[in-house]
Amino acid sequence: MKKLMAANWKMFKTWDEAVITARKLAELVGTVPDDREVLIFPSFTSLKGVSKELASKSSFSTGGQDFYTEEQGAFTGEISPKMLKSCGAVFGLTGHSERRHVLGETDEFIGKKTAYGIEAGLKVVLCVGELIEERKAGKVEEVVDRQIREGLKDVPRDIDPERISVAYEPVWAIGTGEVAGPEEIVEAHGFCRKILQDIFGEKANEIRILYGGSVKPDNCSQIISLDNVDGVLVGGASLEGESFSKIVLA
Ligand code: PEP
Repeated sequence: MKKLMAANWKMFKTWDEAVITARKLAELVGTVPDDREVLIFPSFTSLKGVSKELASKSSFSTGGQDFYTEEQGAFTGEISPKMLKSCGAVFGLTGHSERRHVLGETDEFIGKKTAYGIEAGLKVVLCVGELIEERKAGKVEEVVDRQIREGLKDVPRDIDPERISVAYEPVWAIGTGEVAGPEEIVEAHGFCRKILQDIFGEKANEIRILYGGSVKPDNCSQIISLDNVDGVLVGGASLEGESFSKIVLA
C-alpha cells in the first residue's frame, strides 16, 4: 500500500499562485518514491490549473476539497463530483473539521456526500477527529467511532479499498502547531483500523488511514513510520513547495 501524502490548501492561493506552487513542488520532489503518492487539494478555482500542471508527473493527483450530493441542479454555490472530475480531480475530501465545526456539516450529510462521491467515481478521503473537550472527557473513541460509521454508512461494502481513505485529524492539532504524540496517534489509528475491519472485514487492512494535525518537515518521518499510519494530510506546511516537498520525501 503506497503512503498517501496529501496537501489541503484550504482557501489559500489564487490560480497563478497555486499553479506556481504546484510547479515548484513537482520540481523539488522530482521522482516520487515508489512507496508514495502525492495528492493536492487546491481551491476549486485553481483545481484545473493545478491538475494540468501535474498531469504529466507520475504519482501526483488532485482532488476537490468539497462537493455536493447531486450531479447538477439549482444548488447555487455548490459543485458536483462530475465538475471536479472535469477539472482533473481524482479525489474528494469529506468531513474536514472546518466543514464540521465552522460550516456546521452533520455526520448525516457527510455520510451522504461520501457515498455520493464514491458513486460518482471519486476516491474519497473522509476526515474524522475529536475536539479538545471531547478528548478531555475521554470521548475520543466514541466520537471517532460515530464519525467513521456515519461517514461510511452508505458506502458499498464491496468497494475497492483504494477508493476510500480515512484521515484521523484531532481538531486540537489542526493549525495549532500542537501535534498529537506518537502514542496518541498509534492508539487512535489502531482504533480506526478496528472500526474499519468491523465494517469492511479483511479488506479494511488495505484502506489507508492518514494522520493530520500540524505535520511539518521535521516531524513527518516519525509520524509516517508509526503503526497504521498510511499517509498524512497537511494544511499549513503544504502551502509552500519547499516544506511540502520535504514532507513528501521524509
Ligand atoms: C488540515 O487542514 O487538514 C490540517 C491538518 O492542517 P495543519 O496541517 O495546518 O494542522
